[in-house]
Amino acid sequence: MTTVFPPHSPALLPIVGSDQTFPVRRVYCVGRNYAAHAREMGSDPTREPPFFFCKPGDADAVIAVPAGQTGDIAYPPATHDLHHEIELVVALGKAGSAIAVEHAAEHIFGYAVGLDLTRRDLQGQMKEQGRPWEIGKAFDQSAPIGPLTPRQPGAPLTAGKIRLTVDGAVRQQGVLEQMIWSVDETIARLSTLFTLQPGDLIFTGTPDGVGALTRGQALRGEIDGLAPLQVRIV
Ligand code: MN
Repeated sequence: MTTVFPPHSPALLPIVGSDQTFPVRRVYCVGRNYAAHAREMGSDPTREPPFFFCKPGDADAVIAVPAGQTGDIAYPPATHDLHHEIELVVALGKAGSAIAVEHAAEHIFGYAVGLDLTRRDLQGQMKEQGRPWEIGKAFDQSAPIGPLTPRQPGAPLTAGKIRLTVDGAVRQQGVLEQMIWSVDETIARLSTLFTLQPGDLIFTGTPDGVGALTRGQALRGEIDGLAPLQVRIV
């Protein structure tokens, strides 16, 4: 049997120090995981269970930007308020469901710097109406990601600076320790809702300072210990 058109290929992320690539399956995102960002979005950052939304894992949504390169991201249609959210992306290399917090790190393949690009005006309208967020979050090129850095055995990434500059000016700055829910807690919780598989990515939330982007701007996302992510809005 043949397919009626060529099957879509997954996004493939480059891996630091390897000739192999990481094929993406699903993209899970955590909402409001830094207290200061929860407050800037009008929420109370009490420690409620984390909540999740998804982006597509295909190569239309996930834009893999190789080390040393700048990815071109088209300003998306239907918005006048495209926002940046710099995030630590956790890539899973091992399947599991109902994963215990103390075993969560074993499921991590590696880490990358990612941008959860957001059509904030559309997301806001959907929030007001109690409707799903997809049109605000899951558009084409909504998830640029830098190269994956493999996890070192026994040394999960739990601390360090996270920062985004736009045209050289700092827009977002924080530390991973500010996460309300740790990476391990997030994996454990998510795995009670979905069976996680190798290839799954988790965007772990953004520090405060989210804001609007315009065409022509150059973004650089940095997290201590990881390859930076550079994109330009075109
Ligand atoms: Mn986000």
